[in-house]
Amino acid sequence: PLGLVDGRLVDLTENVVPMEDRGHQFGDGVYEVTKIYNGQCFALPYHMERLYRSLRELKIPVTYTYEELAGFHAVLLQESGIKEGAVYLQITRGVAPRTHSFPATTVPRLTMSVRPADTANRQMWQDGVKVICLPDERWLRCDIKSLNLLGNILGKQRAKETNCFEGVLVRDGMITEGTSSNFFLVRDGVLWTHPATNLILKGVTRTLLLEKVAPDLGLPVIEKPFTVEFAQGADEAFLSGTTTEVMPVVKIDGKAVNDGTVGPITRQLQAAYKNLIERECF
Ligand code: PLP
Repeated sequence: PLGLVDGRLVDLTENVVPMEDRGHQFGDGVYEVTKIYNGQCFALPYHMERLYRSLRELKIPVTYTYEELAGFHAVLLQESGIKEGAVYLQITRGVAPRTHSFPATTVPRLTMSVRPADTANRQMWQDGVKVICLPDERWLRCDIKSLNLLGNILGKQRAKETNCFEGVLVRDGMITEGTSSNFFLVRDGVLWTHPATNLILKGVTRTLLLEKVAPDLGLPVIEKPFTVEFAQGADEAFLSGTTTEVMPVVKIDGKAVNDGTVGPITRQLQAAYKNLIERECF
């Protein structure tokens, strides 16, 4: 398995992270995951734009241009030969003696890796998945794609232990998002999802669905919080994410959504999203 450290090719088994990297000691950094289809990055400008925003919000200096980052993605794809997969990228605040406040001088560290796609989703895209609702115990800057994922990890593990695909997080009675996905429902022909506030990550897949796919299908959209009961009473529900794509949800906390089968609008969205990928990558 291949990786890049500050643009230099490494084998993933190499020891490349110094003890005092702030990513390692504090989770002081940000990341992105970009999907590879047919040997091409999908929606890379959206991911890099969000990366720059995350860096700005954390006051980590930007030391790579978009062209450089796109070039590193291309090198990883070229060298690995992976055609279907995902590239992981992270930037930390670099190496400094361990103190909470920012060091006076540091150079951010970029590490990247590429892996083949997981094929386990295929059947679930067809049949839909179950989700469990859990208290959203994360901090109040979920809009930053930071390395601090403990709330997400604990939620996903709880979902796994209860045989669910995803943990859907609930704050103050309202569904925010999944532990690694955004949550949507369909009611009376309208697409609903939580607004892009500090309480959720503004997913690239979510953006593409709201700005490209839904308008193309003539599907009206409302960005407004809703309760678990409202979601359980929806006509359809689904999750969105870079690797999750459009994943139908057929059961919420053991209760079937509608008749417990994948709905027609979810199917349309899946097909239209697939078209978008085909237009860009094939
Ligand atoms: N919400 C959270 C908490 C995530 O971790 C992710 C992605 O992994 C998403 C939403 C979906 O974002 P994207 O569509 O950019 O993958």
